[in-house]
Amino acid sequence: MKAEIISIGTELLLGEITDTNAAYLASQLPLLGIDLHFISTVGDNKQRLIETLNHAWQRSDIIITTGGLGPTEDDITREAIAEFFQEPITIDQSLVNQFKELFKRFNMDMPESNIKQASIIPSAGVIANPRGTAPGWWVERAEHVIIAMPGPPGEMQQMWSNVVAPQLQKKYCDAIIYSKTLKTFSLSEAKVGELTRTYLLAKNPTVGIYAKPDGIHLRITAKAETLGSAEELVNKAAGEIHEILGKYIWGSDSDTLEGIIANLLITNNMNLAVIEAGTGGILANTITNIPESSKFFRYGIVINRDDLKREYGINDDIIEQYGMVSQEVACKMASAIKAKYETSFGIGLIGVTEPDELNNKLGTIVIGIENNAGKHGFKKIYPGTRMQVKQRAAIAALYELKNILTEETKCT
Ligand code: AMP
Ligand code: MG
Repeated sequence: MKAEIISIGTELLLGEITDTNAAYLASQLPLLGIDLHFISTVGDNKQRLIETLNHAWQRSDIIITTGGLGPTEDDITREAIAEFFQEPITIDQSLVNQFKELFKRFNMDMPESNIKQASIIPSAGVIANPRGTAPGWWVERAEHVIIAMPGPPGEMQQMWSNVVAPQLQKKYCDAIIYSKTLKTFSLSEAKVGELTRTYLLAKNPTVGIYAKPDGIHLRITAKAETLGSAEELVNKAAGEIHEILGKYIWGSDSDTLEGIIANLLITNNMNLAVIEAGTGGILANTITNIPESSKFFRYGIVINRDDLKREYGINDDIIEQYGMVSQEVACKMASAIKAKYETSFGIGLIGVTEPDELNNKLGTIVIGIENNAGKHGFKKIYPGTRMQVKQRAAIAALYELKNILTEETKCT
């Protein structure tokens, strides 16, 4: 089956938003064994969308659209599909009632314009949207299917994984596809690629390598007749890759470093205070993304001026001897914050960015971590924008903390 994605929205053509929907769908279709042949982008213009549908119909079997299902005048996807099939639009009263209920929950009256989102044509089946008032459409005609989904990525992705992907799998896939993602940190993409080369060249399971803000991910995907055999293939490769990459693998699938740290600290009844310089509190911010963070996260201090570091035990001698951006200074900060708030762990984090000789940004990160067992210092250099370096600093600190925590929990 040949698939085509049509991304609808003038803002995409103006470069105001990036087409993350197409990227997401492009990453999901191979898991169903469906080949994606084209991605088209079209503005909020009915005639041009009809032309694009026409074109897609002639060269693709599965056409997936996102966007243009909103309540406003410029949302024309339903009208364009109806006109393309020359089918009349009617209003589905049960959908209107659902919308009214949804608005009532937010103590609001439903605006008249939302009625348009309850439009339906005879060939279309409605795809529920639990997150909003833009239901999708599943339209099958003459061995072709058009699947229309809303633009907001959260709504689209939920609709995809709850309804569209399982339905496509049932209809078009004779094999089961199973995949698992292993998440690494601290090694470069090239190094991970080198170490896992034989797996990257294999056919079943296939292994894909992706650079992400929290490190290099490896996605292992197997195809088999039963879920059990696909899982077996994936788990065997995952086990072997674990042997090769060892502690550089910090998690899998939906794991986050902050989530893993939270579990370890809560289970071991430990707590944490952090002090950051130059990273604007991104470490504290990342940790507090965990709803249970109040159980282990005691204090986060953000400082941004060298003279303020003196309050935390950094005297001129240390600065002169080691420099301000040094593991020694980060360890001193960790020590001071740990002592001040009497926590199990103290983390000191310093991040600075400066242009390198090619005028790219280069970031230096130093991390100090102290617990009752001792001190640990780390220094890392990363390329990237200021924001990327700050993000990397938080991830690096959490990664090192995770390693210390897992070593410790192993011994006891
Ligand atoms: P729409 O359904 O066309 O009204 O889109 C609503 C919103 O969803 C847009 O304003 C964007 O923020 C987002 N959106 C739409 N299409 C895409 C896309 N292809 N990729 C990422 N975000 C999108
Ligand atoms: Mg739009």
